[in-house]
Amino acid sequence: SDIKQLADELIKTRRLSGEKFEQLLTHRDVVKKEIQQSAKAVTTKSFHRTLYVRGLIEISNYCRNNCFYCGIRRDNDYVSRYRLTKDEILKSVRLGTDMGFKTFVLQGGEDPGLSDAFLMDVLDSIHHINPEAAITLSIGEKDTATLEAYKSHGADRFLLRHETKNRDHYYQLHPETMSLENRLRALSDLKALGYQTGSGIMVGTPGQTYATLAEDLVYLHELQPEMVGIGPFIPAKHTPFENEPAGSVELTLFLLCVLRLMFPKANIPATTSLNTLSKTGRDDAITYACNVYMPNLTPPRHRKDYALYDDKACFKIEAAENLDDLKAIMKGLGREVVMDRGDFHV
Ligand code: SAM
Repeated sequence: SDIKQLADELIKTRRLSGEKFEQLLTHRDVVKKEIQQSAKAVTTKSFHRTLYVRGLIEISNYCRNNCFYCGIRRDNDYVSRYRLTKDEILKSVRLGTDMGFKTFVLQGGEDPGLSDAFLMDVLDSIHHINPEAAITLSIGEKDTATLEAYKSHGADRFLLRHETKNRDHYYQLHPETMSLENRLRALSDLKALGYQTGSGIMVGTPGQTYATLAEDLVYLHELQPEMVGIGPFIPAKHTPFENEPAGSVELTLFLLCVLRLMFPKANIPATTSLNTLSKTGRDDAITYACNVYMPNLTPPRHRKDYALYDDKACFKIEAAENLDDLKAIMKGLGREVVMDRGDFHV
């Protein structure tokens, strides 16, 4: 059929036009098996049995932004706000270092209370504690000079999901005080500065269609990110979207396979939101497409306050303390947890 031809074209050329992506997503039932098996073959060829882990440290849940979907948005007065001290961050890094982690991801809201000077001091200190480690930042949109400064203090990677490439959709998800242009500007800066750059989307946000998803895939092809993070949207209490339905695990899994076909070597994590909605979804994601998992190294007493959405998984293999359980579960999936930097290589 036409759809089978589209799948073959994607597998061969690693891209499709926007219209073809939209067709493929709309009629994916016909080609799901083929796309999954091809994605699995690519994942295996690129990474063998390896699954890389990253220690995730949620450094602050203060945020100046008011994204309609996000549990830690500025206007959510029910959030008990915290900001880790330098000592707390470094304690998590030492703990992770002792466990063997060689990548740390510092994530947080866009917190004006986290100064550039503070962050650069933290970057320097992490390198002092663990000179081999890669450091990933995920702290929102920063201006060009700031991104350059972080890079010179040893930030290697940066995660910044573009969330949606479609303007109308962007403003269904974000207030007018935010700007799609600035987010895309930051992403092109990151690439130009030589960061291993991660982008991505949530699946199933209100207003998302196969057409907007196709635009996202075309954009990602242009960006050529070294990392891609996607996970289902999950409603969060006390946000404008609290009564919206969660995104589809099935569609997330299909998109992960499409992304693996587009980006054979990209680092693609199985995200906590996928894990929260479905264990089998998470396991399938790892089986077919993902090569990264990000256990949580945030000081345990703050974990429940970094609640981007309801019922966020955080007790089992989501917690870095349970690394041995993670290793066992991954072994069951035929994968070996490797404590390596896991840099992007062409
Ligand atoms: N503030 C930084 C930023 O905007 O890039 C980093 C932290 S932000 C909370 C990390 C990601 O969480 C966002 O890119 C978004 O895709 C995801 N997220 C936020 N709310 C979510 C929800 N309700 N369900 C699923 N993912 C969500």
